[in-house]
Amino acid sequence: MIPARYSATRFPGKLMQDLGGKSVIVRTYEATMATKLFDEVYVVTDSEIIYSEIELHGGKAIMSIKEHQCGSDRIAEAIEDMDVDIVVNVQGDEPFTSKEALEQVLNEYKGKDANKIDLVTLMTEINDWNEINDPNCVKVIVDKDNFALYFSRSPIPFLRDKNDEVQYYKHKGIYAFRKQALMDFYKLPMRPIEATEKIECIRYLEYGKNIKMAISNTPGIEIDTPEDLIRANIALKEENPLITTKNKFRNFPMVPKVVFGQGSFDQLSIILAPNRINKNPFIFLVDDVFEKNQSLIVRINPRFNDKLIFISSKEEPKTSQVDLIVKEIKSEITYLPSGIIGIGGGSILDLAKAVALLLTNKGSAADYQGWDLVKNKAVYHVGIPTISGTGAEVSRTTVLSGPERKLGINSDFTPFDQVILDPNLTIGVPEKQWFYTGMDCFIHCVESLNGTYLNAFSQSYGEKAFELCKEIFLKNTLTKEESRAKLMMASWHGGMSIAYSQVGIAHAMSYGLSYVLDTKHGIGNCIVFDHLGEYYPEGVAIFKKMKKKNKIKLPQNICGNISEEQMETMIDIALSLVPLWENALGDNWKSIMTREKLKKMYLRM
Ligand code: NAD
Ligand code: ZN
Repeated sequence: MIPARYSATRFPGKLMQDLGGKSVIVRTYEATMATKLFDEVYVVTDSEIIYSEIELHGGKAIMSIKEHQCGSDRIAEAIEDMDVDIVVNVQGDEPFTSKEALEQVLNEYKGKDANKIDLVTLMTEINDWNEINDPNCVKVIVDKDNFALYFSRSPIPFLRDKNDEVQYYKHKGIYAFRKQALMDFYKLPMRPIEATEKIECIRYLEYGKNIKMAISNTPGIEIDTPEDLIRANIALKEENPLITTKNKFRNFPMVPKVVFGQGSFDQLSIILAPNRINKNPFIFLVDDVFEKNQSLIVRINPRFNDKLIFISSKEEPKTSQVDLIVKEIKSEITYLPSGIIGIGGGSILDLAKAVALLLTNKGSAADYQGWDLVKNKAVYHVGIPTISGTGAEVSRTTVLSGPERKLGINSDFTPFDQVILDPNLTIGVPEKQWFYTGMDCFIHCVESLNGTYLNAFSQSYGEKAFELCKEIFLKNTLTKEESRAKLMMASWHGGMSIAYSQVGIAHAMSYGLSYVLDTKHGIGNCIVFDHLGEYYPEGVAIFKKMKKKNKIKLPQNICGNISEEQMETMIDIALSLVPLWENALGDNWKSIMTREKLKKMYLRM
């Protein structure tokens, strides 16, 4: 139940305000539906405007008939004649209500105290004295089993000795009631303490009900003021609903250990040894171009029951492929391996990252495609690139084609724990492939440096990589050996540059190509980028020179024979990558890049 009042004292009409093209109340309704936790979701309102807004968007709304003091009364009236066990109150002004928080509340009804519980609600740790002392922030104290003892606008408990440490909690207005508890609340009159503090929850305590407090520390954004709305709009744009002012700047982990140098690969055994847990094996995922390369296999130097799995990178990595590898590993050992070591290009590095994540996170890799969906730390994982350009060795993502989308698993747990950069490993790379993957790096730089998300951090890495690429692909001054070392550095810098900004049009369109036609990332980027002179004039002019100098002929008319349906899918995939378009074209990108325009561009390629 989402109680929704039209008039709010602090911010009138706030539920009808625009939040990224939809009203706040519709956003809340959709977010609640999307959790898939409920049999039914209703908005309960006193307002015709909100009622029709929800109906218009295909949702279910109930008009409350009576005047109500609070949201709980409004819900109680609505459920009086409904056959329900547990009713959850989701606040209308919390458009980013997280599934995790709601799940935590509901799970209490499955826990050991379930029989004692009349209602469950949420609390969050607070540590800021301004917040602790703010009467708008309701504090709560609990007993040893997390049942509420008291709620107050005063800081509770009182800290007599300033040196003592105590954790303060604030109350968050998400409730899961047993129907009876809510109906009792509705019928029982308010008593003096509730009236003094003006806190609904106190009524339950005053009548002896048991309130179980679940803890959730996922930040959300409540819309109480026009400033909150601005913040919410920004957070929505960044596609990360959990961003608040406290963490709007990106706080990303980096690869903690990296070794660089010709021949550094020979240090692999020494690097791995201290990370071996008991006799648990290391699993090496190796590009199958090395299957016959005995000298490389000898240098890997597998010990005990370590295992080598050779993998083809002919096709783009898939979520199903990750699931299969994980299943294979789990069928052989019942415990976790000591680590996963990826040896190959972007494809193999991405697979290694994803396998390491999926060994400790249940379900399918497809469940984690997106931003920050991974819950548990991965097993120790090491990346060893054998071709340079993607930046996958340093990035916070692993790009996978799934059943529904092509999208990375972007998380703090994705980056490698260790990277070994040995330029000599790239010696055998075929010339064309060297160019395509190298251009991935060049395009990362162009898209980052010309994007609206650019900042000094990204720029410093991007400019360096851009210069290195020009030196490698346009000049005749470098030896092969120097080129290999420099491209390895360019790849790293290009990856760092996009980590703190974003890629752009070539990547969005190339994801579409590879989802529908399985075009590989490097060549796909080149095919697209060649036609983007209108958007990246300088970068594309340099690219054309590089193409000529390196005698590269790109395939033509690759979209000439595709069906209407394939074209539509390709456009859907490309347009779904909102941050990429925003970075490339700004806030107004939708009016610049229409479906028709995109189709024309694809048909030219
Ligand atoms: P790749 O890994 O697909 O390898 C390309 C070809 O080069 C393969 O045929 C491979 O067998 C061969 N190869 C690799 N090393 C070789 C060597 N030393 N000698 C001979 N042949 C060798 O290509 P890639 O361009 O490195 O990676 C593309 C993938 O990277 C795509 O799946 C893309 O989505 C992904 N990617 C990921 C990120 C990220 O941040 N995670 C960024 C960009 C691209
Ligand atoms: Zn790329």
